[in-house]
Amino acid sequence: MKEHIYTIPLSEAVEQGGECLFCTLEKRLEAEAVDYALGASMMEPDSRVVSNEKGFCRRHYAQMAEKNNALSLALVLDTHLNEVRERLAKTKDAATAGKGGLFKKNAGLADAAVKVREMTDSCVICEKLEKTLARYADTFWHLYTTEPDFREKVRSGKGFCLPHFALLLAACEREVPGGKQAACIEELYALEEAQLARLNEEVNWFTKKFDYRFHDAPWGDAKDAPARTMEKVAKFL
Ligand SMILES: [Zn+2]
Ligand SMILES: [Zn+2]
Repeated sequence: MKEHIYTIPLSEAVEQGGECLFCTLEKRLEAEAVDYALGASMMEPDSRVVSNEKGFCRRHYAQMAEKNNALSLALVLDTHLNEVRERLAKTKDAATAGKGGLFKKNAGLADAAVKVREMTDSCVICEKLEKTLARYADTFWHLYTTEPDFREKVRSGKGFCLPHFALLLAACEREVPGGKQAACIEELYALEEAQLARLNEEVNWFTKKFDYRFHDAPWGDAKDAPARTMEKVAKFL
């Protein structure tokens, strides 16, 4: 059953609670992918070809740098840089082909700019996370519509961050049969709206705590509400 390998981590993440169970999963997958990039991936020629070509985004280079594995990181960068230099040389042809002129635009230059930007658009880890999380989102709906226990735990949880809420809406379209979609979406929105309202109250209470009249009132759950809100409403990557 294709869902099986995704079922257990999902059930574990839903048990953990938190503002978004997909963020919990994503952080775990990300940590594993960073370790892999500096470890096992180095030994696999196929995987090296991919990382030489695509490279990584700054967030993930930074996480790799924190691993204190300077040699592995430098080896990854060394071979990626070879590829970068080759690709850059090719864009130069486009950039210099049409010389432009007083009244003539140099279309090749815009084309070269696009191509250079594309060189930084890919990240092995981001792409892997996106693919894996899409599968988890499909499995989420499978469990949600077949396991009442899972559904109840989700409904009594804290909802999702907005990017992962969007991921689930898209997966619902793929995975849930037409006749069941409306009820599922209704429930998911009800959960998300209630949880965003709860978070809003917490942030609001945080701001009130700076008012002398509420100085001695208890913080409740508001102390880390701004940090949780930033994760809730913005992209993780
Ligand atoms: Zn999330
Ligand atoms: Zn990345």
